[in-house]
Amino acid sequence: MEIERFVVEFFESLNAQITREGDSYIVSNVPVDFEKYIGRKCPYKISFKPGVEFAEYVSKDSHFFSAITGYLKESAKTTLLKIDFEVEPLKEIRKSIDIKNCKISNVLKKHKNCFFSRFTFLTTFRFLNESQSVVNEIYVHNGRVVSGDLKGYRVVEGKSSEVSADHLEKDYHAARDKLRELLEPKVSEIKEKLEKKLEREITRIKEHYKTQLLELGGDLNARLEKIKELEIKLHKVEGEEAEKIRGKLERLRKGLVKIGSDVSKERILKEQEFTIRDAVHKHSLNIDNDLINTAVIYYPVFLFNLLLRKDESVRSLELSYDPLLERIDGLLCESCGRETNRLNLCALGHVSCDNCIGHCGECSKEFCSSCLRKSCNSCGKPLCQRCAVTCQRCRSTACQNHMRTDCTTGEERCVRCLRACLRCHGLSEPKYFGESLDGSKVCQKCLAKERGRKIVKEIFKD
Ligand SMILES: [Zn+2]
Ligand SMILES: [Zn+2]
Ligand SMILES: [Zn+2]
Ligand SMILES: [Zn+2]
Ligand SMILES: [Zn+2]
Ligand SMILES: [Zn+2]
Repeated sequence: MEIERFVVEFFESLNAQITREGDSYIVSNVPVDFEKYIGRKCPYKISFKPGVEFAEYVSKDSHFFSAITGYLKESAKTTLLKIDFEVEPLKEIRKSIDIKNCKISNVLKKHKNCFFSRFTFLTTFRFLNESQSVVNEIYVHNGRVVSGDLKGYRVVEGKSSEVSADHLEKDYHAARDKLRELLEPKVSEIKEKLEKKLEREITRIKEHYKTQLLELGGDLNARLEKIKELEIKLHKVEGEEAEKIRGKLERLRKGLVKIGSDVSKERILKEQEFTIRDAVHKHSLNIDNDLINTAVIYYPVFLFNLLLRKDESVRSLELSYDPLLERIDGLLCESCGRETNRLNLCALGHVSCDNCIGHCGECSKEFCSSCLRKSCNSCGKPLCQRCAVTCQRCRSTACQNHMRTDCTTGEERCVRCLRACLRCHGLSEPKYFGESLDGSKVCQKCLAKERGRKIVKEIFKD
């Protein structure tokens, strides 16, 4: 995160006043304990650009910045922040839901708080003579890292009575893992740079000691030369001067023994090893991660209780609205179970999507597909519960139009269970048909008539 926003948010969280003036900020109304910590009274005029007149340049390495991080570390308190939302239920509902065939007659608004955490880490990389700091803010919700920040939201101080901190530990672990991931590129970059430098340094060290070892050999030859020279000279002189030369020779020979021994070589190699180890140590990377602030952030997730009306049916419905996501949840079609943003109400009060709402073919009222499961077995039109008639013969459903009275029994049957009598044009179940005198199949009634006539004829015959 950029340092500017971090500093601005820091002062905002202290309830200090921070106002922008061109390239600088004026900070005033700072709590006394911060003034004490930094050792100066406010107002402070600061700038995040170097060279702004009369303003203190705040960079990651500045005294001002380290005072802020130091102060945060020392107070290490958990900040409670509340994101404030002003929500008008009807406006939000209309924004995301298309209300098709009913009216909202009443809305009740309730809310429950939804929590997440923000962890602010100050990471300091120390290597060679350098020190670099970065600030990372990580937001975690339900143990999972989420993206985004509080920019653009109205944030107010939270109330401890409204806050639960149960989620903090779980969230913290997620944040640590994320931090490691975030730092990874920077760490690799520095490490690579250091490795290259170290490689060069080791080459230089080895070069240096190689020369020393060579010099050791070279030195030996020079001394041997010198001894030879002095020995020749000794033959030519006497007395005091000869004594001097003898003394010199002795010292040289002693030195010769010292140089010629492996001890010197070993000493040089040991020194080289030590120097390399020192260089490795100097080229290592130290990383300090300080958790400088933990914030419990919460915001209301609203529950809208609506009363829906359509003709004589009334229905209550609960929808949840997340103002952060600007999303309404909970509108499910009660027929297909899918989430929908089209609100239809069936005549029996069921919530239905556009695909699942239909009309009864008989009464023309709107019903959901669960209420329109039945259809006429003759014409196929969908039927509501009230308009569907069950044929007592075949147990299937028919519309009013396709139900008829059996002319033999007087009972209601669907037309598929009936057969037309060609003589009287009445309808009756096939089992009530019989063969008439002329060989055609007619209904029981017509048969009875025929039989009656025959009896009468026979009577008059006699
Ligand atoms: Zn549906
Ligand atoms: Zn109907
Ligand atoms: Zn329904
Ligand atoms: Zn029908
Ligand atoms: Zn039937
Ligand atoms: Zn008939």
